[in-house]
Amino acid sequence: MTSIGGTTGKSKDVSGKIGSCFCGAVRFTISSAPNSLTHCHCVTCRKFSGAPFVTWTNFPVSAITWNFDTPSPSTGNATAASTTNIKSDAASLLKIVKVSDIAERGFCQECGSPLTIRYFCEPDVMSVAAAAINDEWEGKAIHRKEIFLEQRAAWWKGLDPQAQDRLEGFSPSFKVCSVL
Ligand SMILES: [Zn+2]
Ligand SMILES: [Zn+2]
Repeated sequence: MTSIGGTTGKSKDVSGKIGSCFCGAVRFTISSAPNSLTHCHCVTCRKFSGAPFVTWTNFPVSAITWNFDTPSPSTGNATAASTTNIKSDAASLLKIVKVSDIAERGFCQECGSPLTIRYFCEPDVMSVAAAAINDEWEGKAIHRKEIFLEQRAAWWKGLDPQAQDRLEGFSPSFKVCSVL
């Protein structure tokens, strides 16, 4: 995996960066550079986020370590728990919902921040909301695209001037599959 910007410090990579939901109950650390940056204008992203689009960054699932604060039953104070397997953590505050036959999304149960999407046909890839990454980074040197422009909000005409692809739906290379 190529590190964006190397060691110059001028162009920032998200590798090793941390992020969280709005309230901080769900936090994560990323150990690799992202595969891509995707602005998704689909209706589901719009409804889920309350915004004209969601910008997703794709990582190997294994590159993300999740950290959760779980309420202590005796004191009410937060105690830290950590896992790399979201679904197996019963105490997870990252609520995973199956939103369609092709994907599941994750959001913080405490504050509602949308955080993840994972397609069933790509179980090893996790898309993380780019805006949830705490550290500033420039998103350079990775493939940038806009998808589902056919569903773009009529009141939103903006586009990423750096996007290399602008697509009406999914990328042609993306193989959609569903889980029944
Ligand atoms: Zn939260
Ligand atoms: Zn979308």
